[in-house]
Amino acid sequence: MRLLLVEDNQELSRWLCAALQQSGYAVDCAADGMVADGLLAYCKYDVVVLDRGLPRMEGLTVLQRLRARGDRVPVLVLSARGEIADRVSGIDKGADDYLVKPFAIEELEARLRGLVRRAHGMESPVLRLGPLSMDSVGRAFQLDGRLLSFTPREHAVLEALMLRAGKPISKQVLYEKIFDYDAQANTEAVEIYVSRVRKKLDHPDLHIVTLRGLGYLLELRRNGV
Ligand code: CA
Repeated sequence: MRLLLVEDNQELSRWLCAALQQSGYAVDCAADGMVADGLLAYCKYDVVVLDRGLPRMEGLTVLQRLRARGDRVPVLVLSARGEIADRVSGIDKGADDYLVKPFAIEELEARLRGLVRRAHGMESPVLRLGPLSMDSVGRAFQLDGRLLSFTPREHAVLEALMLRAGKPISKQVLYEKIFDYDAQANTEAVEIYVSRVRKKLDHPDLHIVTLRGLGYLLELRRNGV
């Protein structure tokens, strides 16, 4: 899950970034509106946390420009001000959710999960594919009811495949879901993570298919058909 955090308060940004990375997000950070605007035009994110009051370009201007480009990435706006008028203007400009500072990290994370779920049309926090289930609240995968153990990057690989089950996902897109902007890796690293996930996901009803030139696809094996 690739997340952009736009926050000019250095201390808050550092703390949020560490907490979100701990929860398995690949996090890019921007400390002003211009940098955020550039990153949003260039990179594909799964979710954005956007502070309202920013140097060089206001948070709501960044948001307006993003929506004007037709980008529908879910955005949660952070604000120091909680007045109803502010909230309404944020939502009018295309925010999907709104959180007033100070807030608990647990609440931020719960709302981010909700945004990602809605963006993928998931009604329940648990997604199933045959014997495999993904619990987005507990951040856990179970195979036939048995808990699977993954590193954060392996988890990110399977999460991305699961959210697009039955459809191919390119190596480049997978790369962007598991590595942040500063990561010193190349797309070949994706193959290593996919092969590790494949080993742990050893089940007669499931497989991760490699599609030459197209990427990967997670699907149920159609036994006997
Ligand atoms: Ca600010």
